[in-house]
Amino acid sequence: MAIAGIDIGGTKIIVAVADEQMNIRGRARFDTKAERGPLPVVQDMKNALHRLLKETGVPVESLSSIGIGCGGPLNRRTGVVLTVPNLPGWNGLPLVDLFAEEFDCKTLLENDANAAALGEARLGAGRGFEDFAYFTVSTGIGGGIIAGGKVYHGTDDNAGEFGHQIILPDGPRCNCGNWGCLESLASGTAIARRTREKLAGGRFSKMLEMVGGDIAKADAQVAAEAARMGDSLALDIWEETGKYLGLGVANIINILNPKRVVIGGGVSKVGDLLFEPARRVAKARAMRDLARVADIVPAELGDDGGILGALCLALEPEG
Ligand SMILES: [Zn+2]
Repeated sequence: MAIAGIDIGGTKIIVAVADEQMNIRGRARFDTKAERGPLPVVQDMKNALHRLLKETGVPVESLSSIGIGCGGPLNRRTGVVLTVPNLPGWNGLPLVDLFAEEFDCKTLLENDANAAALGEARLGAGRGFEDFAYFTVSTGIGGGIIAGGKVYHGTDDNAGEFGHQIILPDGPRCNCGNWGCLESLASGTAIARRTREKLAGGRFSKMLEMVGGDIAKADAQVAAEAARMGDSLALDIWEETGKYLGLGVANIINILNPKRVVIGGGVSKVGDLLFEPARRVAKARAMRDLARVADIVPAELGDDGGILGALCLALEPEG
């Protein structure tokens, strides 16, 4: 028997076929081109899966289940996607039915951050931990809660929105419409904005030279490179980012009392520049007894977190 995973992002999609021991037999990666609307994108995914099954010699009848990770919000039980900000026109799309009918097998849908948390739980930094919290810090900030070895979903499947906890009541406007959410302060997008604001403020920085004087080109990547070269403005930016993230982690430690907090996503690859202040602030600001038992570690699955999470989802029981 074989399983399939699909990791749907606003810019790229990964489809993979694996055996039930999670050995990936084939994978395809392509641009979403979300501006075309949902149906051509769905067709691309179906075509890719058919092609992978053929290439790996798996007859369609041997495909036992498909796991799909997709940006939320979505309704897991009906398998319908709701208003995903980076997938225009997908509201109401019955994604699970579209795949279950085409491939005639069990198909499960999960919010992408929850799928990545599940991947870490089964194969990564959360292995052996019944209770842990997962943060993903990239363009935005997402989260997933593993409780008793399972994803905790909440009433409408939307639990774990760690990026939208309010850190500064009068802070910057967030994508969700609120102000001062963690995402508006510590996501890749927010780091870029804060970097540009600080450069525009006139303080000297190597970053100005690195972007050829064009402040609009400064982003989290530039801030990371400059910080590694010892640039004091860039170091301040990461210290501040780590502080915001650490406050967010402290809140989650106080609420969930996890044994472990796993932090993944593209921005987390910067490593100690982010983790050192985040750990320091989380430990200082969470309640002492809860902080003591919670270690704060990087995710282990890296760029494969999304697709491995989708494959792990395929092996979960329905419901
Ligand atoms: Zn928000």
